[in-house]
Amino acid sequence: MQVKILGSAAGGGFPQWNCACSNCARLRAGTLRSRARSQTQLAISSTSNQWYLLGASPDLPTQLAAAPDLCPSAESPKSPIAGVILTSADVDSVMGLLHLREFETFTIFSTPSVRRILQDENSLFRVLERARPPVAWRDLIPHQRITLDASNPSSPSASIQIIPIATHGSYPDYVSPELRSTLSADEASLALRIEANGNAFFFAPALAVNAASHAALNDARASDVALLDGTFWTDDELQSTHRSNKTAREIGHLPLSGRDGLLAHFDSSKKCRKILIHINNTNPILDEDSAEHRAVREAGWEIAYDGMTIDL
Ligand SMILES: [Zn+2]
Repeated sequence: MQVKILGSAAGGGFPQWNCACSNCARLRAGTLRSRARSQTQLAISSTSNQWYLLGASPDLPTQLAAAPDLCPSAESPKSPIAGVILTSADVDSVMGLLHLREFETFTIFSTPSVRRILQDENSLFRVLERARPPVAWRDLIPHQRITLDASNPSSPSASIQIIPIATHGSYPDYVSPELRSTLSADEASLALRIEANGNAFFFAPALAVNAASHAALNDARASDVALLDGTFWTDDELQSTHRSNKTAREIGHLPLSGRDGLLAHFDSSKKCRKILIHINNTNPILDEDSAEHRAVREAGWEIAYDGMTIDL
């Protein structure tokens, strides 16, 4: 299985258009040893000619343009994108669907609740129904394994299997109270365990502070590669950089540092390759000369960047 990291930043990207935090200001000035990052977006494939997107970021057009494998060509004029797997209804995870509206048929995988948010309450997404046949929706039910590439009987071992894991995050602010009251709590946000060729890859761009997310970390530790929530270094990062009055925990992200931070959960893990993704522009680990960057690397973690690829 190939995994392409097309985008590695949290919502807003790095630098963020309206942010003058130390990281964003220094990156613009060319005085920060780091690199710009677009909003988190992954693509996976076991066949090289059929790709599935994990999420649909607002930066999708430029991310696809930077990845020729994901574009049609003169020899193969049909788009190689077979489907989009949504882990939540967050704007940063679904806005890219609107960029895929050009009368193309593909499959969207989501929980039934996320589908209702997009289909019932946000009529803009009906542009996806103009394709002939229209985009197909397929349910992701927590803990129910599904198989992608099922149409590829010549290579069944290359099929990608996905096990959705509920992480009990929150539904986005934009969902109306009326709809929200009818949605299932375990369908708001998912982590994904993705298996192919006997290898397991774990993807959780948002890990809230709750029992479900803690349980998901057990699955992450048991995987060959884990791509996990690297949004914030400290709980008060948005307050100390004057971006928001809320803490990391209040907006559904376990910070990296601290006694109960994400890094502390992996002290004894030797097997798993650990990579941080969904990194907010305020996070000091983006500064490659910072003590926080060094601490993450010395703890055995990698920091995702746009264009990074993983073969497993
Ligand atoms: Zn910033």
